[in-house]
Amino acid sequence: MYDVIVSGAGPAGSRCAEILARNGFNVALIERDTNWRKPCGGGLSARIMNKYYPQLRKLNPVLKKGGFMFSADFHKIEYNWEGFGGDSVVMDRLELDNLIRDIAVEAGAELFDKNISFDFIIKNQKKIGIKTKTTSGTKEYLGKIIVIADGMSSKLAVKSGLRERWKIENIGLAKCSIIEGKTDFDETKSYIYFRPYKGYGWVFPIDDKRINIGCGTFEEDNLNYNLNQIYDDFINNPNIKQYFSGSNYKNKWTGAFPLPAKGILEKSLYGDNIMIVGDAAGFVSPISGEGIHPSIVSGQVAAETAIKAIDEDDISKKSLKSYKQHPNIKKIIRNFKLKRSMVEFFYENEGKNLDIMFKLAEADEDFKTQVINMFFSNAAPSNEFFTKVRASSM
Ligand SMILES: Cc1cc2nc3c(=O)[nH]c(=O)nc-3n(C[C@H](O)[C@H](O)[C@H](O)COP(=O)(O)OP(=O)(O)OC[C@H]3O[C@@H](n4cnc5c(N)ncnc54)[C@H](O)[C@@H]3O)c2cc1C
Repeated sequence: MYDVIVSGAGPAGSRCAEILARNGFNVALIERDTNWRKPCGGGLSARIMNKYYPQLRKLNPVLKKGGFMFSADFHKIEYNWEGFGGDSVVMDRLELDNLIRDIAVEAGAELFDKNISFDFIIKNQKKIGIKTKTTSGTKEYLGKIIVIADGMSSKLAVKSGLRERWKIENIGLAKCSIIEGKTDFDETKSYIYFRPYKGYGWVFPIDDKRINIGCGTFEEDNLNYNLNQIYDDFINNPNIKQYFSGSNYKNKWTGAFPLPAKGILEKSLYGDNIMIVGDAAGFVSPISGEGIHPSIVSGQVAAETAIKAIDEDDISKKSLKSYKQHPNIKKIIRNFKLKRSMVEFFYENEGKNLDIMFKLAEADEDFKTQVINMFFSNAAPSNEFFTKVRASSM
């Protein structure tokens, strides 16, 4: 019997398992496939390297000093990370996931690879463990607490009864590739491109030879646009193509995956001896799609909650409520709500508000600062800001 079973060894699950193991708890970390490269831009904010994984520095990632954001009609805002906690980095997701999974294992978590969690083991109406499919048949893992960290495709999250299946209008759909070859993108910058629909594209240089390029839609525009088509249109757009002045570009990898788009599923975070963390519980920022940092935070808080619950011998729903009530989780919930309201504003005028904002920012430094703060520091713009954008749209 394990103290905790964590299903899914992505950023949320690995962080959770690491903290538990470091504190002397027996953890089973169940993973479908450690060779899977999660489709992701791999953009990491400074706090991940500074606060959670200083070990990342050993991989010598290229530091990003800032970047550019473009509106759909290609008005441009340049930003830098000074004042926002420091340089960001871009990682190949397979390398990142392996690194943080290894850290969990080194801390003492037991990793079970090639195990697909698919159901709970139930005794006397209590969920006492999980069942997995492996190449050699079904396996069972018993644990006091179960942490569901297996991302968007989580079967356990739905079977737990804590949440429903995703509805298409509550998610985003994105496709991306890693392209190898020397481009003219500045490797110390990130490039974000808003689109004329609910969605955006990005070019995140990983180093001087590789870029991660991708785009996606969200909410109702998942149904109005074809993901493969918008991806092809994006990478062939002349504003993107101009950076490919070299030759011999190789597409090293392509993948597509959904992500939550409406913020955290507050009512679904915990039950009797169960917690849901990361993507499986909606921990992705509604504007930027940033989910790695919030997933790590949720994994860590779930671990701390489990430690306290087991120590106090109370793993009931009531006891696990402190996961949701933790100041770091409350802060993320609050930030995402603010971001959701901004998304509504961006697209209330058929997407034109974003174009207007970028155009106004090009001509006015104060306005530009407000736009940048709105994207990167959860600062709600002033009423004058909204009035100005709305007035310009008439
Ligand atoms: C295209 C795209 C681009 C993105 N770009 C960024 C970005 O640049 N920066 C950023 O911060 N966020 C980005 N995100 C969001 C980010 O990828 C996620 O928020 C983050 O990976 C969530 O971490 P997680 O651990 O909750 O889930 P995941 O990373 O999805 O990890 C879940 C783990 O569970 C495993 N698993 C799944 N099912 C099972 C099962 N049945 N049994 C056992 N194991 C299972 C998986 O193999 C995986 O290892 C992007 C998302 C997408 C789709």
